[in-house]
Amino acid sequence: MNKKPNGSQGHFNPKCFASVLANCEGGISREHYVSSNLLRRLGEAITVSGFPWQKPGESRIVGIGSLTAKILCEKHNKELSKLDDKIGVFFSTLRKYTTEFNESKSVIQVFNGENIELWALKVVCGFIASGNFSIDGEPIPKYVREDWIKILFSKKSFPPGLGAYVFAKINDRYPVAHSLEIAPRCHNVSKNIGGASLIVGGILNIDLILMDDIKPSENQRYHPKFLNFKKNGITQTIGFSWANNGSIESIDIDMF
Ligand SMILES: [Zn+2]
Repeated sequence: MNKKPNGSQGHFNPKCFASVLANCEGGISREHYVSSNLLRRLGEAITVSGFPWQKPGESRIVGIGSLTAKILCEKHNKELSKLDDKIGVFFSTLRKYTTEFNESKSVIQVFNGENIELWALKVVCGFIASGNFSIDGEPIPKYVREDWIKILFSKKSFPPGLGAYVFAKINDRYPVAHSLEIAPRCHNVSKNIGGASLIVGGILNIDLILMDDIKPSENQRYHPKFLNFKKNGITQTIGFSWANNGSIESIDIDMF
C-alpha cells in the first residue's frame, strides 16, 4: 500500500480504479463488475454482446462467474455494493411488470433514478478498468477518468444533460430476458470513450452519456419520470425520483 504522492495522508492502492480518491482500504478482491445481484436475477448463464472478444453484433452465452475482475479495493467495492442491491430490486420489479402483468389493477412503484444511473456508471467504469471495452476492435486503455470516479462515489453530481437517457421496449426477442448487451459510445473523431449503451434483460435501454458531444439514441429520454407498461386500460408504472435535473417525460410501452 502506498501513500498518495501529493502529500495527502490517504492510502491509494494502484490496483483500485478509485485510488485517486486516496482513501483505499483492504486488499483487492475479485468481484462481478456488472453486479452479481442483477446477474443472478438474469440467470446463471446469460447472453452477452459488445465485448472486445466478440465481432460486432455477435452474442454469446457465458456463465456469470466469468464476468469478474480485480479492480477495486475492499472499501471502495463495499461502498458501491449498495448500488448492486438497488439494481437487483429494480430489475425484479421491471420483470414482474412485464412478464407477470396483473390485468386487474394499475400499480406504481417509485425508484431513486440516481441509483440506477450510478449503477450504469459503475458498470461502465468496471468495463473500462477490467479492459472489457474495445472500439473498432481495439481494446481501450484501462484508465477511468477522475471526474467519473468522483461522480460514482457521490463526490460530485452529473453535469446537467449528462447521465442516463432511458427507454424501454418489448421487442420481438421478448421474453428472452437472460441477456445483457453493452457497447461503448465514443467520439467520432477523437475515438475517446464518452459513454455506453446498455440493454438489460432485453427490456431496459440505458444510454449513459458522459461527454457533451456524445448523442443518445433517438428514442432515449433524459431522466424520465415514468415508464408506463400498458395493456387493456391497465397501467403498471415504474416511477423515477431525481434529486437533480429530473424531467416530466413519460415513456409508454404497449404490452401484447
Ligand atoms: Zn480503493
